[in-house]
Amino acid sequence: MEDKFSKYRRAQGTDRPVTWPGWAAAGVLLALVIAGWMHAIPVYFPSDAPSMSLGSSSGAPGAAPLAIWKRPGELAVVFFDIGQGDGAFIQTPRGKNILIDSGEGRTPDVRFIRPVDAANRVILPFLQQIGATHLDVVIATHPHSDHMGSMADLIGNRALTVGQLWISGFLHPTSSNKKLLETAKRRKIPVYAPDPNQLPTRLDIGSDVSAHILFVDPSADSPNNSSIVLKMIYGHVSFLFTGDAEERVEKSVSVRWGPELKAQILKVGHHGSKTSSLPIFLNQVKPEAAVISVGSYNTFGHPRPEVLQRLRDIGAKIYRTDEQGSIFVFSDGQTYRVEPSRL
Ligand SMILES: [Zn+2]
Repeated sequence: MEDKFSKYRRAQGTDRPVTWPGWAAAGVLLALVIAGWMHAIPVYFPSDAPSMSLGSSSGAPGAAPLAIWKRPGELAVVFFDIGQGDGAFIQTPRGKNILIDSGEGRTPDVRFIRPVDAANRVILPFLQQIGATHLDVVIATHPHSDHMGSMADLIGNRALTVGQLWISGFLHPTSSNKKLLETAKRRKIPVYAPDPNQLPTRLDIGSDVSAHILFVDPSADSPNNSSIVLKMIYGHVSFLFTGDAEERVEKSVSVRWGPELKAQILKVGHHGSKTSSLPIFLNQVKPEAAVISVGSYNTFGHPRPEVLQRLRDIGAKIYRTDEQGSIFVFSDGQTYRVEPSRL
């Protein structure tokens, strides 16, 4: 479905392949990404990338069916209950599968009270339940482990194939990032970083749903502020995903995009931290439903009471993964319904 962003060109996956001489070169490649010298930079692009196939919606043999799932012709967006972190799955009406962040990995970090190992404990079993064996696009909004710590396990799982991996391009050479890029290389998954000078960048997820990257900053002052900000539109229903973008990014996108940020469903930035969800930003987005992905009893104090009040002030209904479990949103393109559910 065409929309107001359709005048901008699509991200191309046909740019010259970049050979991969090893992790030592990854820093050089990411530095080139930071320089922003290409549109939709292929950080790694194998010549024999796996062809795309769609997962069925019938569920895998032996997997328990979900209590709720989308009807034919609907878009589904699932905000997973994965403790202190972010992970959202999208299935378009025509069956394209997208994952935005994948939560914390197998960490003993005591800050994370609720389930960690999000890929193995939550996301992979869910994908099996809905019979999804291919992810067309996987996005790591930024290189913090509560968003991509389990992503290597996910894209490395042989039960899945992955079409594209998108990263912010922020140079943050932690072990989880190293493992993620090494796994993408081993599985021949093309890795892209959007060019901040060529936004918005349209993701190729078919014509029924549009998804545009509205912001990224690989040279940001922090990993949080490098976050990929994505707007997705199905008919008259829009979603905005902001990763852990904070004040600086919210001001920037508010000035640049203004009312084009408007979205009925907002994935609240940075787990409800007081450093995000500024009034200037919320006044442009005007969310009706605000989803906060946050862990029970987290030591960060997320979500902050003042943020909850700001969301109420704008008229948004608040949904929280720590209190309600995974948050399912279904849309026929005209309207939407929100159904929290324990997976
Ligand atoms: Zn986070």
